[in-house]
Amino acid sequence: MSTDNAATFDCPECDVTAPSTSVPYDSLGYVVCPVCGYAATPEAAETPGVDRSPSAGD
Ligand SMILES: [Zn+2]
Repeated sequence: MSTDNAATFDCPECDVTAPSTSVPYDSLGYVVCPVCGYAATPEAAETPGVDRSPSAGD
């Protein structure tokens, strides 16, 4: 088993992989891709303003 289970950053934009410790972070603390500048912000699971009621629509 590998004992060195360091977190890595995988860029979905340019498909680069780099150790999280060697990539820059933005002012919000998110990893920024050193190659293309993509900011690894979390997916908006809860977006304020977008109210999707389960009973609305049908
Ligand atoms: Zn990238």
